Amino acid sequence: AARKKAEAEVAPSSGKPPVTKDSIINLDHGDPMMYEAFWLGGAGERATIVIPGWQTMSYFSDVGSLCWFLEPGLEREVRRLHRLVGNAVADGYHVLVGTGSTQLFQAALYALSPPGPSAPMNVVSPAPYYSSYPAVTDFLKSGLYRWAGDAKMFDGDTYVELVCSPSNPDGGIREAVLKSGDGVAVHDLAYYWPQYTPITSAAAHDIMLFTVSKCTGHAGTRLGWALVKDRAVAQKMSKFIELNTIGVSKDSQLRAAKILKAITDGYDRAAGAAAAGDDDDDSSGRLFHFARRKMVSRWAKLRAAVAASGIFTLPDELPGHCTFANETVSAYPPFAWLRCGKEGVDDLEGYLRERKIISRGGGKFGADGRVVRISMLDTDEAFAIFVDRLAAMN
Ligand code: PMP
Repeated sequence: AARKKAEAEVAPSSGKPPVTKDSIINLDHGDPMMYEAFWLGGAGERATIVIPGWQTMSYFSDVGSLCWFLEPGLEREVRRLHRLVGNAVADGYHVLVGTGSTQLFQAALYALSPPGPSAPMNVVSPAPYYSSYPAVTDFLKSGLYRWAGDAKMFDGDTYVELVCSPSNPDGGIREAVLKSGDGVAVHDLAYYWPQYTPITSAAAHDIMLFTVSKCTGHAGTRLGWALVKDRAVAQKMSKFIELNTIGVSKDSQLRAAKILKAITDGYDRAAGAAAAGDDDDDSSGRLFHFARRKMVSRWAKLRAAVAASGIFTLPDELPGHCTFANETVSAYPPFAWLRCGKEGVDDLEGYLRERKIISRGGGKFGADGRVVRISMLDTDEAFAIFVDRLAAMN
């Protein structure tokens, strides 16, 4: 019914084409379609916004503030969500908004590069690193910064280290590996949410990047945020976004705010019901619970398929005490970092492609060709076909 109603208006596209038993299954990108089922339930209505033709016309959101294009309602919901989850300290931090955290990552590189005519700053990350880091760092051949590869191999004093934790691609928990010289770390916490990993403490790094893409599944909204401690750095990041895109879509910000609000409200409602002794819990409103259940079930299916096949291995499960769930839970990464031990399979991406599964080869992450990254966040249908095919490989 929700879909029908939307189709009566200007119909949105539906993303990738649906899959059938014989389709090529594309799990190259982390397209977060797994979340659609949650929002198609009651939560979707609670996250709906209507924007009449006369609204969100001005370039400006909050003229006097450091990030003048940030909608105050979004900032409020970002802070509220971090308070609920406890995954990052937001008090005492500046909140910045970006067109996805991809834009904020570039804003951080701009802000951290030394002014004046010095050599480009080195941008590093320990391998295996997120494949967009080298690509996005170098595509404009900036004179300000350049990709300098694996942080573990880097020997120098001026650098920015990108710390992605939990790590895309391998799900590992990471800390900055470089601690010397004038280096600065940017923490990409896109996956530091309780459906993927135990929340062990509230992160309090100098620059922390988040995105709705992997938190709520709304990758198409193109909305990310940064928590930045230092005012001057926050100001320069904001300047980058001003020069790059004159701010960030207000429509997206308002929608993201409503989505984040729906999540936090869902937990507030559940807590209220529990306090009132009403144990008829409304799990349809608890996003992290929904997503965790999905991840638990998908990882069980994937591990069973890997066991059935016998030619693959996966990273070990990492358990920890989650302050959000208040129990010891395992990590369920958003990507499978799948390695093949079969004789002669030196190009696993190619091997899987011949078997109609599109993955991303290890080379793009600074790793070898016998390993690939596979999204765990696609539709139930695509995931089911993928594990069936995998189980049959030997
Ligand atoms: N960082 C990491 C580690 C990611 O995996 C992604 C998305 N694949 C991003 C950042 C970018 O997210 P966004 O959609 O917000 O640009």
